[in-house]
Amino acid sequence: MNKSYNEHGDSALLKRLRELEAVELQSGKPQVGWIDRRTPIELIEAAGEMPIRLFPSNIHNEKLPGAVRSDACSFCSTLASAFDVNHFPHLSAILTGSTCDQMRRMCEEVARTTTIPMRLISLPRTYRRSIDSYFLNQIDSTWHWIAEVLGVPVSEDSLAEAVETRNRLRVWVSELRREGWLSTRELHALAGSVLNATGLLKLMDETIQTPEDRSGSIRLALLGAVVGAPVLDIIEQSGGVVVYDGTNQGDSLFVEPASPQDTPIRMLYNYYGMESLEPARRPVMPALYYLKKSALSYGASGVILINPTHCHPWGLSAKIIKEFIGLPFLHLEEEYGSLAISRLSTRIGAFTEMLSMKRTGNDNR
Ligand code: SF4
Repeated sequence: MNKSYNEHGDSALLKRLRELEAVELQSGKPQVGWIDRRTPIELIEAAGEMPIRLFPSNIHNEKLPGAVRSDACSFCSTLASAFDVNHFPHLSAILTGSTCDQMRRMCEEVARTTTIPMRLISLPRTYRRSIDSYFLNQIDSTWHWIAEVLGVPVSEDSLAEAVETRNRLRVWVSELRREGWLSTRELHALAGSVLNATGLLKLMDETIQTPEDRSGSIRLALLGAVVGAPVLDIIEQSGGVVVYDGTNQGDSLFVEPASPQDTPIRMLYNYYGMESLEPARRPVMPALYYLKKSALSYGASGVILINPTHCHPWGLSAKIIKEFIGLPFLHLEEEYGSLAISRLSTRIGAFTEMLSMKRTGNDNR
């Protein structure tokens, strides 16, 4: 067996990525923050800026006055800390998308109060052709906004190249994931990296190794919103492996584009708007079909859906997702930034044990 992990659990890819990121962060290159998986990161890459994924810090989780409603999800409740300029002194701008109304409201409020130039591209909540031009215009005007705010020359050619390169990255990551050559931990690191798509393609080319044999593990699909490393640790410690990760740190950032031949702006419009499959969008059936197809095609034998407390898009969809997918299902709802580790371990452990017994039963038939 050719293991890709050393005794500290780091693969060659993760170790090299950390080295490259340290160099990149020291480079003095201008940085643009982004938050939501519906942010067209290609606009940042085409402008030659460094993409910095902003996450709330549970150390600095002060609420921004007026920014969040009392029933906001626990992710948005702490999101204001992600905009603390003291934590990110080199940010030139923030560009973000929105998966749900809560995220949109939060970002609108922050945009109003932050001193960093910020732009929000709102995802249309419904699939209606009548709102096409609204979203298309947002992408197009944001492209010009970036040039103006950052004072960098931008061109159609640089945007076309950024779009094409990130599409290649998506296709390759998807292939490697389907074949089990890229772990979920590596996937998360790529999804939140400060390297651009060109850098990530080169990194993968140099470091991808024969995967660890996980055939004895229980294959799981992970769905929902922000998760974090502790949940992956717990799943692995209980004998599971996440073969498909539909959360906002995983495979959903590397969906193969359905219409890669369009013009760059239209391609972004399709990918981030029309083809975007979120449970917050209506009608919800395309997202359900997509989640089911993903869980089954990656060979998952069970599904874990995890969302922060008060996350309506995922929390309220849990029942219908469970019924529609039809696989053994575990729904977890956790306070973002303060996971109840022992309770999670117990529930996930019981779930994987049940799946393991089921598999043994099937094998013995
Ligand atoms: S999808 Fe859920 S967790 Fe994410 S911002 Fe919206 S309500 Fe919060």
